Amino acid sequence: MGLRRLSGGRELAIDLGTANTLVFLRGRGIVVFEPSVVAIDERTQRVQAVGEEARRMIGRTPATIRAIRPLRHGVIADFEITAEMLRYFIRRVGGGGLSFSRVVLCVPSGITKVEREAVEEATMAAGARSVSLIEEPLAAAIGAGLPVAEPQGSMIVDIGGGTTEVAVLSLGEIVAWQSIRVGGYELDDAIVRHLDSNERLLIGPETAETAKIACGAWPLPEEVETDVAGRDRSTGLLRRTTISSSEVRAAIRQPIAAIVESVIRTLETTPPELAADISSNGIVLAGGGALLRGVDQLLRTETHLAVHIADSPLESVVNGAGATLEQDTASRPRPKRRSRRYRHRASSIGSSDQRLLFPAASAAVTQ
Ligand code: ADP
Ligand code: MG
Repeated sequence: MGLRRLSGGRELAIDLGTANTLVFLRGRGIVVFEPSVVAIDERTQRVQAVGEEARRMIGRTPATIRAIRPLRHGVIADFEITAEMLRYFIRRVGGGGLSFSRVVLCVPSGITKVEREAVEEATMAAGARSVSLIEEPLAAAIGAGLPVAEPQGSMIVDIGGGTTEVAVLSLGEIVAWQSIRVGGYELDDAIVRHLDSNERLLIGPETAETAKIACGAWPLPEEVETDVAGRDRSTGLLRRTTISSSEVRAAIRQPIAAIVESVIRTLETTPPELAADISSNGIVLAGGGALLRGVDQLLRTETHLAVHIADSPLESVVNGAGATLEQDTASRPRPKRRSRRYRHRASSIGSSDQRLLFPAASAAVTQ
């Protein structure tokens, strides 16, 4: 710790999300919040733009420029481009030699060893001197202000662009969790498919996202209609139509049901004492999907639990990882996937329900 301070190294927390990348600089807070997009010139293979500038190019680029999202479902789909993107964002933080950066990187709880190594390598390739990983649900829970270090159950549901991560935490560890490859983008895709099959109208994913944000997941006090424009599949011409909020809800029913199911499955595999804590404290939602209108009401209805939305849900993960930078190395919560403690405690209860005996193991499902 002392040495690192003497070397003047910057310490960063990075939330490398499918949709957005956020960088937290120790002592400063969030310094980068940009879409995880890179625009590449195919002729030269050179990076043309990164972040917001590159996002504006999606679907609007000349033939030679390709806008790429290098992550899919929370994991690296394109290693080189992810490293390029990270290098750009780390450089943007500025101030001092790159090689002095110590980075805490947030990773989905469901990723494999190979995927973990890939993100670590991409961060080192981007100029970091050392990388440690923290599991996203743990970071999100810390960032949302949940009492994760207490011997008390807390539940966090992080709905991102390409994944939903549900976790129950206690004593700084993840006790039960689910990670599904369904997030905000699957909702957008469902709206695209709905208009394609019902109206033979091909809309872009950004148009679908706008309709999703306007309409939400739960009946509105006053239902709304949203204008969408796309290409008519029959005539090939541009056509506009309106889509009602109830139609959007019907379109996104399936991916929404998958998210609800992952919450219920996690609750089913939570040891009873912790489940009791959650029934008194409720569930906290984080990630951009937490902003979907009425998603809290929907989960309240489906789970019969209190549901709260984190303050600044898009920032919970990076703020939580950033908070761990402020702690001494020794006391920093070490992200672990399973808790032996609760395996023992749960089995000593003598439950006849096998799922409760090994909650973490049976909940560890990644699709
Ligand atoms: P990731 O961690 O995967 O990068 P984020 O937590 O940044 O994802 O969330 C991005 C997702 O949140 C996108 O699918 C986006 O459409 C969705 N989102 C952002 N704001 C809203 C909103 N107001 N209503 C509904 N969805 C939203
Ligand atoms: Mg995220």
